[in-house]
Amino acid sequence: MNTVLDTVVIGGGAMGSAAAWELARRGRQVTLVEQFGPGHKFGASHGATRNFNPGYHQPDYVAMLAEGLALWDELEQESGEQLLARTGIVNHGPGGDLQEVAAALTGAGISAEFLDPAEAGERWRGIRFDQQVLHMPDGGQLNPDAALPAFQRLATARGAEIRHHTKVVDFLVFDDGVRLVLESAAGTEVVTAAQAVATAGGWTQKLLARVPGGVRIPKLRVTQEQPAHFRVADADAVWPGFNHYPGPDYQGWYSPVYGMQTPGEGIKAGWHGVGPVVDPDRRDFLPEQKQLAALQDYARQWLPGVDPDSFEAISCTYTTTPDEDFVLDRIGPVVIGAGFSGHGFKFTPVVGRILADLATGTRPAPAIFRASR
Ligand SMILES: Cc1cc2nc3c(=O)[nH]c(=O)nc-3n(C[C@H](O)[C@H](O)[C@H](O)COP(=O)(O)OP(=O)(O)OC[C@H]3O[C@@H](n4cnc5c(N)ncnc54)[C@H](O)[C@@H]3O)c2cc1C
Repeated sequence: MNTVLDTVVIGGGAMGSAAAWELARRGRQVTLVEQFGPGHKFGASHGATRNFNPGYHQPDYVAMLAEGLALWDELEQESGEQLLARTGIVNHGPGGDLQEVAAALTGAGISAEFLDPAEAGERWRGIRFDQQVLHMPDGGQLNPDAALPAFQRLATARGAEIRHHTKVVDFLVFDDGVRLVLESAAGTEVVTAAQAVATAGGWTQKLLARVPGGVRIPKLRVTQEQPAHFRVADADAVWPGFNHYPGPDYQGWYSPVYGMQTPGEGIKAGWHGVGPVVDPDRRDFLPEQKQLAALQDYARQWLPGVDPDSFEAISCTYTTTPDEDFVLDRIGPVVIGAGFSGHGFKFTPVVGRILADLATGTRPAPAIFRASR
């Protein structure tokens, strides 16, 4: 069967869903195809919490933070759902460029204040604070399990078609469009479209490798990340989101630690971007034991509000570029959104806006996201 479409979004994770919403809002005829079902746990956008951590000082990201806060508000208005719980974010430790972050945020009108560690420890007694403490009250937790259906529902309300259990198995690019082969329970279908938006997460390199001659983007490293939800031991403790940046002489750390409270599930804590490299189609979903033991040691030492021996491991993928900046670019009829390197969720609606701008030729993406960098 041959079908002619306008814009096909490949991948119904956070970024594809946001792109579909933004393109549908601009009156484009959008078809989103997703290989798995709604709410699947095989990629990077499942679960009830992600930090909206404003801890950036690079100007493009700082501008995207401010725009992101406004667009999450807009999505909450349109969907009637609370998606961002403003618990505040606290970044602490000798690392993390906290002085530069504070200056950049203040310059952009986003609140940031340094607190004395003892004072912070009184406010948030579930956490033991380290040296310098930067509090950012505009930050909080986003809920992917509510946000993705909201994006898709609103896109559908504006005429988009969302097809789950539909996989792109072949991908040809021409000057004036693309041809995709889709596989679903209904069989194989050949689709021609004016444009494709490739937001395939950990599968991006595989997808783009199907294009004869390939599509050149920075090398993507897919890792299986394994934070854990620790059982709350102090029921009265109040929890912000947090990031802890070690000093050069800190022993037994794999990376900075991020964390937050997931209501009903516990306190999430995790290492950042150090999981084993995986093929997204051949994962074991099992935690690496040494990293897990080190994470428990971290909780024992720095999270007095949790039980370090009672936890639930989580499995999820990062797709990381060499410089940890995203890939947001257009190559002919193909728009690419990839390489979110474990820090993309907070920017989801802004990424949707940038991908729609690229698809409609409205404006280019910031240079740091160029595929040819
Ligand atoms: C453990 C963990 C913690 C994180 N914490 C934070 C945080 O606190 N703050 C923050 O801002 N970010 C955080 N992130 C990062 C954030 O979650 C990701 O950047 C974001 O979810 C990436 O979304 P995506 O749409 O690119 O990828 P995905 O959600 O993986 O979506 C890609 C989709 O494409 C589909 N697909 C792939 N190939 C095909 C094909 N051929 N045909 C059809 N469909 C296809 C896949 O099935 C998948 O659904 C975290 C990530 C992880 C893993």
